[in-house]
Amino acid sequence: MEAPETLQKAIATFSDPQKAFEAAVEFRWPGGKVTCPRCGQAKHSFIKTRRLWFCYVCKKQFTVKVGTVMEDSPIGLDKWMVAMWMLANCKNGVSSYELAKTLGVRQNSAWFMLHRIREAMKGNPNFKFGGDEGGPVEVDETFIGGKPKNMHMRKRIRAQQFGQHTDKPVVFGMLERNTRQVRAKVIPNVRRDVLQAEILNHITPKSAVFTDAWKGYAGLAEKDFVHATVSHINEYVRGQVHTQAIENFWSLLKRTLNGTYVAVEPFHLERYADEQAFRFNNRATKDNRLTDADRFALVMSQVAGKRLTYAELTGKDIDSVCHEEAETGQEEPF
Ligand SMILES: [Zn+2]
Repeated sequence: MEAPETLQKAIATFSDPQKAFEAAVEFRWPGGKVTCPRCGQAKHSFIKTRRLWFCYVCKKQFTVKVGTVMEDSPIGLDKWMVAMWMLANCKNGVSSYELAKTLGVRQNSAWFMLHRIREAMKGNPNFKFGGDEGGPVEVDETFIGGKPKNMHMRKRIRAQQFGQHTDKPVVFGMLERNTRQVRAKVIPNVRRDVLQAEILNHITPKSAVFTDAWKGYAGLAEKDFVHATVSHINEYVRGQVHTQAIENFWSLLKRTLNGTYVAVEPFHLERYADEQAFRFNNRATKDNRLTDADRFALVMSQVAGKRLTYAELTGKDIDSVCHEEAETGQEEPF
């Protein structure tokens, strides 16, 4: 199965339920080795007319959606796969309003779908950045919701002076220079203990770490990192020592948040960072010519083994809200 190269092809291909089904099966179980998502066994019979399997071990049926982010969704694979294609490839993201219009589903449903796709996009790296191979790591943090570019430095200084932190959510990011891979997560504040715990968790000791002059990064050299700082006020770039690549990621994230996702709650912010990091880490480069089809295939290959329920996402029972019809272009309809 060739993954569709364009949105138009994705819509055309997956509008055929059999083709959509076959594609989803192939992405999930490459080579057709279907295993039960509950017990992992391959002892089953396939009920062709209903496109589901019966597991002889569990004595239960399963579909291609069971055990994936699509589990329990009444929305068809045709729509799910078009939604995944769009979110994998639209540079500035896809609003729930836009997705609802494209798919002909309610905005609430589109919103829930998008969050579940973000769950599939989320990386689960079991290795640290830096070391000999990864080279220097740019580290920075940014407040979401601030406007001018240098606001965050002034805000940090003010927060420092008054011994408090701004109420704006903070995203912490790391970018490994050689591999051009980014990781981003929401952190509670910009205190030294918080920042440095993240650095210890994610970066190999002895790596070069580039940050700005924020005092939260002071003392990294004593923790066995090769620390170099750049002051945004005096010298923007000093040779290799800069944080421009991570700042580039921040500007992409903020463009998406300001332009597409109008009213993101801090509670959900990290998912939007995951989404942006997925596109950033899988963008085409000279050495790695990834296409739209590749990015779509990658999302599809990551849907299994993950779940995000409506209750986890909202704290509400889906039955209490599923009759609601969102009318506005707001990103968070609840
Ligand atoms: Zn089973």
